[in-house]
Amino acid sequence: MKNKVILISVDGMRPDGFLGCEHPFTKRMLKEFSYTLTGCSMKPSVTLPCHTSIFYGVPPARHGIVTNAYVPPVRPIKGIAERLADAGKMNAAFYNWEPMRHVWSSDTMAYTVFIHAYAEENTDLILTERTIEFLQNKEPDFVYLYMVETDEKGGHDNGWMSNAYLNRVFNAISCVEKIFNTAAQKYNIIVTADHGGHERMHGTDCPEDMTIPMFFWGDGFEGGKDLGKISLLDIAPTILACMDMPPSAEWEGNSLIKK
Ligand SMILES: [Zn+2]
Repeated sequence: MKNKVILISVDGMRPDGFLGCEHPFTKRMLKEFSYTLTGCSMKPSVTLPCHTSIFYGVPPARHGIVTNAYVPPVRPIKGIAERLADAGKMNAAFYNWEPMRHVWSSDTMAYTVFIHAYAEENTDLILTERTIEFLQNKEPDFVYLYMVETDEKGGHDNGWMSNAYLNRVFNAISCVEKIFNTAAQKYNIIVTADHGGHERMHGTDCPEDMTIPMFFWGDGFEGGKDLGKISLLDIAPTILACMDMPPSAEWEGNSLIKK
């Protein structure tokens, strides 16, 4: 069994954006990964609250991050990075939105790369290339790749489901394909969105904001299986299960790995 994990977050990718970008690799993901096109985001459907839920396994009402402004937790929980670091695993993160650094304690990531999304034209691709280089050189246990351009340069700048948005989603899926081609033999690979979007915004409870696609590759995930109404809370227990580790007691989701 592969027991290393890559988590890729494509910010603001709607299920119909995933399908509508018409990247050829999407067909392969639907056939070879377990997946859902009806997954659930968190309320509020906002980036930092949603990613805090991905990493800490509880909804915003519990972890207390309800906007993109970070506040220290009143009742701290151990999240993915803390649990893996405690177990002696090597974690690495590659991201292009600065507040993302708040979803792990700084001493739990052995290696981080941050590039501001507007510093270069295609930072999603630059980060992907840096991730691949690191995977090949260091073979870390857990790698987090976060791509914001679908949301910032696609949805917010041009509108969800606009051609510019779909082009950004296409580019992000190209990045996913590059990671897959490099790492599929040795790693479980999880691809998720955090929330969707409508017009030029997100954050509401409407279905366009709340419904997300999620994908799971590895020995414990059946190809082509529709996982239905899973949520962001299921990611943390699933990652720990991939590494044969139990979830933290506070986590509210379930492992999606088949026994
Ligand atoms: Zn987001």
